[in-house]
Amino acid sequence: MIQLSKTERTIIEASIRDIQDFPKKGIVFKDITTLLNNPEAYSVLMNHLYQRYKEYNLDFVAGIDARGFIFGAALAQMLGCGFVPIRKKGKLPHTTISEKYALEYGVDEVEVHIDAFSAKENPKVLLIDDLIATGGTANAAANLVKQAGGECVEACFILGLTFLDGMSKLQEKTNVYSLIEVE
Ligand code: AMP
Repeated sequence: MIQLSKTERTIIEASIRDIQDFPKKGIVFKDITTLLNNPEAYSVLMNHLYQRYKEYNLDFVAGIDARGFIFGAALAQMLGCGFVPIRKKGKLPHTTISEKYALEYGVDEVEVHIDAFSAKENPKVLLIDDLIATGGTANAAANLVKQAGGECVEACFILGLTFLDGMSKLQEKTNVYSLIEVE
């Protein structure tokens, strides 16, 4: 299994910017826009993802709204497989399956088209987002993949916040790969 080299890690990590107290006090927001507008870092990242996943024989990459779309759509094109958006409630036009998940205050909901994976039999799906924190979003997205008939073979994140237990909870459901773990 391909892992990130030390040099690749340094280049990617250095390209991600920390924004203190966004969107509210006490949160360190991991800003990946500085990775995206750094051609070397973006290319090192995408090349690593391609090298890791080219042996998985994936049928689809499912990206989580919204930053998961950026990495997921590019990766799907490189791998020659389909891309499926998992969107926030109310954005998808066709019949959807939806899943609610708890936020710190209140609930949120993600959706997928009911026929998103129907072009393949026993579709193998990679789930991708930029970051896993509490794991609520990814857990709901993994449930949607299953309900829509897909097999979630792995969930991939550029960053994993290890001081929250999101990754360990999601591991009960699928393999989890985070390129950079933030302690
Ligand atoms: P969670 O459901 O708590 O795992 O949160 C994951 C989602 O929220 C992902 O789509 C992230 O893009 C976003 N997110 C949560 N915490 C942060 C953070 N500290 N920096 C950037 N994005 C975050």
